[in-house]
Amino acid sequence: YDAQYDLYDLETLQEMLEKARPFAKQGKVADYIPELAKASPETLGVTVMPIGQAPLSAGDCGVPFTMQSISKVFTLLLALIDHGEEKLFEHVGMEPTGDHFDSIVRLELAEPGKPFNPMINAGAIAVTSLIRGSTPQEKTDRILAFVRKLAADESIAIDEAVYRSEAVTADRNRSLAYFLKHNGVIGGDVEEHLEVYFRQCSIRVNCVQIARMGMILANGGIDPDSGEILIPERYVRIAKAFMLTCGMYNASGEFAIKVGIPAKSGVAGGILAVVPGRMGIGTISPALNEKGNSVAGCRILQELAARWRLSIY
Ligand code: GLN
Repeated sequence: YDAQYDLYDLETLQEMLEKARPFAKQGKVADYIPELAKASPETLGVTVMPIGQAPLSAGDCGVPFTMQSISKVFTLLLALIDHGEEKLFEHVGMEPTGDHFDSIVRLELAEPGKPFNPMINAGAIAVTSLIRGSTPQEKTDRILAFVRKLAADESIAIDEAVYRSEAVTADRNRSLAYFLKHNGVIGGDVEEHLEVYFRQCSIRVNCVQIARMGMILANGGIDPDSGEILIPERYVRIAKAFMLTCGMYNASGEFAIKVGIPAKSGVAGGILAVVPGRMGIGTISPALNEKGNSVAGCRILQELAARWRLSIY
């Protein structure tokens, strides 16, 4: 790419945010987790964090939201750190599905009932079951510590109201988890694994924190300020490959064409995006399309990708 695109300016960011704003009206705030329905569909924010430069933010970049499926990237990385890739891929596959994120249908088709990838709910629950720790609390603390370290922010915490709201309404995720146990993909206490999964989904963040986590992934797992290796580069590659092929679920192909960078969405309306070697991006806009991705969030990324030539292709 052309080095002139290394110049990122606030004015362009604000302009792209305003271009994306009307698109939020096309979406709907998630309500299958009752607590999420309280989010304002008007919230719209973006932070761009280029490697080694000051972050740029526009709109509601400080408004908190829960990570939801964005957390799947980080439990994947932690499980890889805990066990290595050989063991991890005994429990989860490497292929996109073309189905909705909480689909159960392929668990019966795939041999031997292994979930297709770690970015859909079934795969993420299988990955979370591998996180080291003797209690759900210990596992949750490790996930939280990892996220805080990558975001360089010790204040990140779990939204207990969202956690409880999901835990009491998650019949579908329970079905997936028990099915996985039956298939021998996960062992141990299913309810304990689910507790950790619901808690990781309920980690409260904002765009700035998400952008910083993305920036670490963009920089191959190295903290550019301290030079510390926070994640082995090989695992960062695996995570980015999954984000690119499966991160937007059954809209990942369309997103690759329209935007062309690794990204991961969550049903609270956040998106984590990574421009390898260049920057991390965090967006928030709670109104989702039917695939469960933030409509205005995708639009901001599409506008920025066009303006700053972010596509990796
Ligand atoms: N906690 C949500 C769930 O399991 C996460 C899904 C998502 O963000 N797509 O349903």
